[in-house]
Amino acid sequence: MAHVITEPCIGTKDGACAEVCPVDCIHTDEESNQFFIDADECIDCGLCISECPVSAIYYEEDILPEMQKYIQINIDFFKK
Ligand code: SF4
Repeated sequence: MAHVITEPCIGTKDGACAEVCPVDCIHTDEESNQFFIDADECIDCGLCISECPVSAIYYEEDILPEMQKYIQINIDFFKK
């Protein structure tokens, strides 16, 4: 289990989450339109959730059905 960044991040890309993450597992790049959480590194501390101005971050078990695809989208970013 991990935390996952979902659709509201697209076009927002605020980045406040990445600044508070204690294990530095939130990343993006210039080509991407959102931030992503590395599921292998996330320690599920939950600190990033309240930092997000658009409520884009969820614990994997709490993700709405229509946002489930973002679990794989976050994983795929780190396979690049
Ligand atoms: Fe980082 Fe904690 Fe958020 Fe996981 S839950 S991405 S460890 S701040």
